[in-house]
Amino acid sequence: MLDVMIIGAGPAGLSTAISAAQHGLHVEIVDEYYQPGGRLLGQLHQEPDGEWWNGIEETEKLLEQIEPLHITIHYSTSVYDLQKVNEKWIIYTNEGDWESQTVVIATGATESPIPVPGWTLPGVMSIGAAQVMTNVQRIKPGERGIVIGLNVLSFAITRELQLAGVDVAAMLLPPPHLLSKKEAEPQEVLGSLLRFSHLAPSLLMRRGAPFVKGGFGKNLVTSFYPEKGMSVWGIPLQLRRTALEIKGKNQVEAIRVAKVNRKGELHNAITHDVDVDFVCIAGGLSPLVELAAIAGCQFIHEDSLGGYVPVHNEKMETAVSGLYVAGNITGIESAKVAISQGTVAGLAVAKAMGARMNNGKINDALQEVESTRAAATIQFHPNIISVRKSMYKTEGIFTKVKE
Ligand SMILES: Cc1cc2nc3c(=O)[nH]c(=O)nc-3n(C[C@H](O)[C@H](O)[C@H](O)COP(=O)(O)OP(=O)(O)OC[C@H]3O[C@@H](n4cnc5c(N)ncnc54)[C@H](O)[C@@H]3O)c2cc1C
Repeated sequence: MLDVMIIGAGPAGLSTAISAAQHGLHVEIVDEYYQPGGRLLGQLHQEPDGEWWNGIEETEKLLEQIEPLHITIHYSTSVYDLQKVNEKWIIYTNEGDWESQTVVIATGATESPIPVPGWTLPGVMSIGAAQVMTNVQRIKPGERGIVIGLNVLSFAITRELQLAGVDVAAMLLPPPHLLSKKEAEPQEVLGSLLRFSHLAPSLLMRRGAPFVKGGFGKNLVTSFYPEKGMSVWGIPLQLRRTALEIKGKNQVEAIRVAKVNRKGELHNAITHDVDVDFVCIAGGLSPLVELAAIAGCQFIHEDSLGGYVPVHNEKMETAVSGLYVAGNITGIESAKVAISQGTVAGLAVAKAMGARMNNGKINDALQEVESTRAAATIQFHPNIISVRKSMYKTEGIFTKVKE
């Protein structure tokens, strides 16, 4: 029987494995993908200090630490169930069952779709799929495309597409409807874009952002927003244009674009078509939590964490005994935060299983999570720091579900 089974070989799962195995535990990892790294693999962006964050290289660094620890990673192995029977966990996969004393779920996040008429045509994909095609599989998603959805993820990945030589004709709002909600409202979108204005390519945008943050500034910008959009890395950022329909016979051929007012309402359908051969839809991310639900975790809903997350404490322990979580399943944050959370989870498991360690070790790892979070260049949601702090301080949430 294993000491720890880790579900997910993304940055959180890999770093959990490293810190647990370094304390003598018998650790194995399962991942449904055919290679390690999870969503880290597709990442490529420039930090404000000019350094490049290259996800493939970062994955290799983690694997260099994994290798001497003799941790087996089972690829193409999908976990579909887990149960606690007689004080041990049974993990059910398409490759057979495993038994383990403890389990760490590090399954990451999933993309939220935003329906757009015509989205079943070949050539329409989620923005994350375009990232994997371009940066992992080295296949161009098409020659000329449109990105629907303006958020931190679509910005990061659109830049990656551009660096790979893919022509992005524009970034547009999704069509206004029940499911697109605030993602289709120019003022709301502008507010969320301002949170990562420090990454904007032009000095004017970086310096101008603080003056726009108030309600008056947002009104002004959305009212007088340029007809042709604002250029970001040469790509028109269209805050007053929505994607009405994706058109084509056997595959994507064009997209019908309509003008909206500053509240995101359609203006008597003034439309035009833009020729494209692919479309990426970016609806944001939410934690991938199904396995935690199957395992009996309770959940809380927090917009700032991306939706429902399993109740857990700062040490990544859930209220179900012998079950831990790490990474984006606990809330949407950058890969650097996922790595530091994984270190905490691995140490917490090792400690709970009787490994000897310096008293300050977990505290140091917790400090590292906090400082990594505070310094993160990409923050997917506002208030993440205060929400995490209050969640971990609310004793009641955690102890109540233990009863
Ligand atoms: C589409 C997408 C794009 C992203 N792009 C960026 C970006 O550009 N920059 C950024 O900072 N962050 C990005 N993120 C956020 C990203 O999730 C974190 O940066 C980081 O990768 C989270 O690490 P993780 O280990 O928690 O999860 P992940 O990296 O997602 O790893 C989770 C792993 O679990 C495996 N898994 C899931 N379910 C199962 C199962 N049932 N059985 C077996 N294995 C399973 C998956 O195959 C995956 O390898 C992106 C997320 C997504 C979903």
